Amino acid sequence: MTSKVFFTDMHTELNDSLLSKMRRLLEASGLGDIDMEKKFVAIKVHFGEYGNLAFLRPNYVKVIADFVKSKGGIPFATDCNTLYVGMRKNAVEHLENAALNGFNPTTTGCQIIIGDGLKGTDDVELPVEGGQYVKIAKIGRAVADADILITLNHFKCHEITGIGGALKNIGMGCASRRGKMELHTSGKPSVLGDKCRNCKKCAKVCAQDAIVFGKTASIDFDKCAGCGRCIGACPFDAIISQYDEKMEVVNAKIVEYSKATIAGKPSFHISVLADVSPYCDCHAENDVPIIPDVGFFASADPVAIDRACAEIAQQQPVVHGSRLEKCCEHGKPDDIFAATNPNTRWQSHFEHAERMGMGDGSYELVTVR
Ligand code: SF4
Ligand code: SF4
Repeated sequence: MTSKVFFTDMHTELNDSLLSKMRRLLEASGLGDIDMEKKFVAIKVHFGEYGNLAFLRPNYVKVIADFVKSKGGIPFATDCNTLYVGMRKNAVEHLENAALNGFNPTTTGCQIIIGDGLKGTDDVELPVEGGQYVKIAKIGRAVADADILITLNHFKCHEITGIGGALKNIGMGCASRRGKMELHTSGKPSVLGDKCRNCKKCAKVCAQDAIVFGKTASIDFDKCAGCGRCIGACPFDAIISQYDEKMEVVNAKIVEYSKATIAGKPSFHISVLADVSPYCDCHAENDVPIIPDVGFFASADPVAIDRACAEIAQQQPVVHGSRLEKCCEHGKPDDIFAATNPNTRWQSHFEHAERMGMGDGSYELVTVR
């Protein structure tokens, strides 16, 4: 099965703009064929950890939100809380982080809702049809309740998954905290004794009675169900996830979560291949992009759009001074993503997507001017 992936590059003429080009891309791509009349349309975006400047600008969200409104839909921008301890681990700080990075109702043209609620516990269980690793995905309620899902994806490198595109933004980004626990770990969280102040707030949210107290809190692994609630409840950032799942299994789980998230509702995906940083936008910093900016992609098929971005990225020259250039002593590496983050294998996304009946990402590239 070959899917269409629509593409426009970053070149602009006088009196044109990238925002106008993006709008034309949306018009040409078939997004308007989705019936949006009076429907809630979630625009899933990554607001960027504060300090990172590679995240996608709110201007792009506004192009999508305005498009949705022109079709009668009710758009909102959304992201779910993080598993790691940073500025996006609860809805209050997450919204503050988003505002600091320029996301607000004026700049995005829509309201902003944190998908899995105040402490990352508001989710919906969705079945994974044919799941090998996951039977029930835990997805942020606002995403699950939306009638339509549009993802706006910053395509870049990733230190665990190799690449981060549409599948990563759906499968990982729409998961609640306990969903992210399931994706990232094969086990349970642990307590950093030097940070714990024995306030016992974690125990109040633990339904398994798994937190025990001595000089500091600790977790009884026999009782812990790995829900991750205690991570969000600790005011002193003393509870952390182990991040111990094998990288290829993380990719497979992301695919399975993606399948569950988009099942039964219209979805569409827009990716920006620009500022291709070596790491995820969850980092509070971003290094020199490894390749030049390429353009915008749009498709109804999240596997195809990721494959198109990955393959076209591989064809680009290496940016001088980037981390990738340091790997080029013997010429440009065959695989820029593996060279940038050794031990990752981005191809495993596509292998598992095919196993899961989501297609192998074959695509026809349609250029829009
Ligand atoms: S909430 Fe945090 S600081 Fe308080 S007891 Fe639990 S781990 Fe320690
Ligand atoms: S992860 Fe969930 S079950 Fe385990 S200790 Fe924390 S709150 Fe309790």
